[in-house]
Amino acid sequence: MNKIKVNLDKKISASYEIYIGRKILDRIGMIIAKNELASRYVVITDSNVSDLHGERFLRTLSDMGIQADMIEFPAGEASKNVDVMLDIIKKLLDMGVDRRSALIALGGGVVGDLTGFVASTYMRGIPYIQVPTTLLAQVDSSIGGKTGIDLSAGKNLLGTFYQPKGVFIDLSFLQTLPPREFNNGMAEIVKYGIIEDTDLFSLLEDEAKTIRNESMVLLETVIGRSCRIKKSIVETDEKESGLRRILNFGHTIGHAIEAESGYSLSHGEAVSIGMAAAAMVSEKLKYLPSRDMERIMKLAEALGLPCGIPDSLSTEGILSRLKTDKKKQGDVINFVLLKKLGSPFVSSEAPEEMIRETINMLKGR
Ligand code: ADP
Ligand code: ZN
Repeated sequence: MNKIKVNLDKKISASYEIYIGRKILDRIGMIIAKNELASRYVVITDSNVSDLHGERFLRTLSDMGIQADMIEFPAGEASKNVDVMLDIIKKLLDMGVDRRSALIALGGGVVGDLTGFVASTYMRGIPYIQVPTTLLAQVDSSIGGKTGIDLSAGKNLLGTFYQPKGVFIDLSFLQTLPPREFNNGMAEIVKYGIIEDTDLFSLLEDEAKTIRNESMVLLETVIGRSCRIKKSIVETDEKESGLRRILNFGHTIGHAIEAESGYSLSHGEAVSIGMAAAAMVSEKLKYLPSRDMERIMKLAEALGLPCGIPDSLSTEGILSRLKTDKKKQGDVINFVLLKKLGSPFVSSEAPEEMIRETINMLKGR
């Protein structure tokens, strides 16, 4: 089991550890028991994760003498709303959960975001722990303390920055994860390789075919490196004022494409296309060498991630969504571009016409 420490500014929030390993549930129970964070725990999870792993997880905790209950809600992004949040809060109140209690988020990003948000507001804030069960949550959303729910006006419009007391990443959860969900996480891992870690990028190129099934050891390495990158960016920029924006690489166009597809493209698929688009724009602006752009597209495709935009999506529709993106400042669209692999920068240089051309070129792929 590996351990990574996230060092945050003590004036804002406390530091915490990320534990990574295979079949570490027992160890998770032990560490929780030893830390005595709370006198009782409530595991929050969704219906899928509860069916697959809920019972075993609760048993592990009770074997360690930890008092724990479980609350489950229907699986799916549609549950990340105010009604489900209030429902969870009502259940916590009925259970008599008070400030000496802590929550445990067992699940993917939806569970993590919702549980974090409830934890940050319930009785003015109680501690919580992340146990991410999707690859995406393991390498991305469980680290960094972003919490939130969706409103009808848009995603993640209500939320807080609230750091967990610990993150426990057990690779054995991934064995039940559907391939498309696995790919969601792979897209973010490719992103880390592109923006920060060219060795990780090369490793992915070498192992694209084997990473999925054959080697849990390799996957553990790759998850560990991804977590380290995310955590060091979060350490320097906890509230996303500057550096943390490079984590949006591939996400500006990606979000526009994801929404324009009516969410029929998964987050990972849309981000993969968005990364291809950002690489292409970087190349058109004469920053990124063509060879690097080709390596990015080739790696995505080798991992089973798309780079082409489906013909059915409207170019103008994507463009208009880009312009209303909340990350837009003034009249310019800010993109994370690349000088080369491993060197991202934020720029508003790309003219609308170049973005249109890029979208149309990717439609032909
Ligand atoms: P993310 O944002 O991390 O992709 P979600 O919370 O949207 O996560 O989860 C995606 C889907 O995967 C949900 O239907 C969830 O119930 C399911 N899921 C989460 N973890 C697992 C797992 N270990 N095995 C199988 N399905 C899982
Ligand atoms: Zn993402």
